[in-house]
Amino acid sequence: MILTNLKGEATIKQTPTSRNTIIVGAGLAGCLLARRLRAAGESVLVFGDSTKSCAASVAAGVINPVTGRWAVKSWQIDALLPEAERSYRAIEAELGIEIYHPIPLRRFCQNEADLKRIGRRSRNPRYADVLGNLSPPGEAPDALRDSCGSFEIHGAAYVDLPPLLEALRADLLSAQSYREGSFDHKTLRQGTDQGWHYEDCFAERIVFCEGAAVTQNPFFPDLPMKPVKGETLAFRCPELELPRSIFHNGKWLLPYGENRYRIGATYDEDDLSESPTASAKASLLKGLADILKTVPELEIEHHMAGLRPSTQDARPIMGKHPDHKGLFLLNGLGSKGASLAPLMTRQFAEYLLEGRPLDPETDLARFA
Ligand SMILES: Cc1cc2nc3c(=O)[nH]c(=O)nc-3n(C[C@H](O)[C@H](O)[C@H](O)COP(=O)(O)OP(=O)(O)OC[C@H]3O[C@@H](n4cnc5c(N)ncnc54)[C@H](O)[C@@H]3O)c2cc1C
Repeated sequence: MILTNLKGEATIKQTPTSRNTIIVGAGLAGCLLARRLRAAGESVLVFGDSTKSCAASVAAGVINPVTGRWAVKSWQIDALLPEAERSYRAIEAELGIEIYHPIPLRRFCQNEADLKRIGRRSRNPRYADVLGNLSPPGEAPDALRDSCGSFEIHGAAYVDLPPLLEALRADLLSAQSYREGSFDHKTLRQGTDQGWHYEDCFAERIVFCEGAAVTQNPFFPDLPMKPVKGETLAFRCPELELPRSIFHNGKWLLPYGENRYRIGATYDEDDLSESPTASAKASLLKGLADILKTVPELEIEHHMAGLRPSTQDARPIMGKHPDHKGLFLLNGLGSKGASLAPLMTRQFAEYLLEGRPLDPETDLARFA
């Protein structure tokens, strides 16, 4: 067996191999889970297909503790935030990369009712750590539309996901724990020996971390997934100078510095193709015009599209297959993978290795 690197070049000759765990999917969930299992002394082999669509490759990686129309704290955010910061910082230190970027986030009120609601919320002690003062209209940077006022959200960050994945996959590759190529479910065979055979590999367990592609997984045909397509634009705009902060006004605008920006994102539950569309581009440019008083000339560098692995009840899904011993799943990170993945992979690893029960809100068994 020839092992290839991320560019598809042959690198290492590998003999038939036996591992504790095969992970299918080298996206955010798969790579972080592999790291957790390896840290606990487990042997893993991750199958990743760099030609396939990957949500984490197009995501901005924004972590925002207060979200949605009603501006409420995201599900479990008080536990998710510290775990995310700890995990990403540990990866940065270990792999010599910089990917975790805390950044202020300013959200603009849409109308008077919004302003009143946020005002009430900011007096709620449960929000003291995440909601800053309300600023009256006109106090935001001059380039921005600000007719109803805005407020600061503390604890926000963005995680540079593409270099994170690249570093995690390279680390797995150097430990002979990564194999490039599409995992073919039809080739998987249950052994008589308490495990699963796949090509030349044997593993005690298989964990599927396929993101939105799980809808094609024949072992989990009826999962209540609800993939949502998203698109973003990365652009350069020499005439636009904004302070280092995410600006959220309908859509979000993320300045990277040196006149480079990202605007996102669209939500489409009907078109589940993976290619960028002219209509989403128009919607993103309209969103930009709603954020800025005037839109200077800009150069679009990348127009990206992907499928968020969302679920019908907007919660992650993890756990064991109801009938096939040794088959597991970790999915459903939806539009919040950057904040969810560190804690969800930790809880899943503890479930797998220490037998700790899963949170009933995330356990796949809730759909039994
Ligand atoms: C436009 C857009 C913007 C987003 N913005 C944000 C954001 O700002 N903040 C945030 O937190 N989240 C954001 N997300 C969501 C985030 O990307 C996801 O929550 C996260 O990537 C989910 O991780 P995952 O590992 O489950 O899936 P993915 O990251 O999609 O990874 C799954 C991987 O499995 C691989 N795979 C599937 N089947 C196979 C197979 N048979 N063989 C081999 N490999 C396979 C896929 O190719 C892929 O690489 C955004 C998503 C989109 C589309």
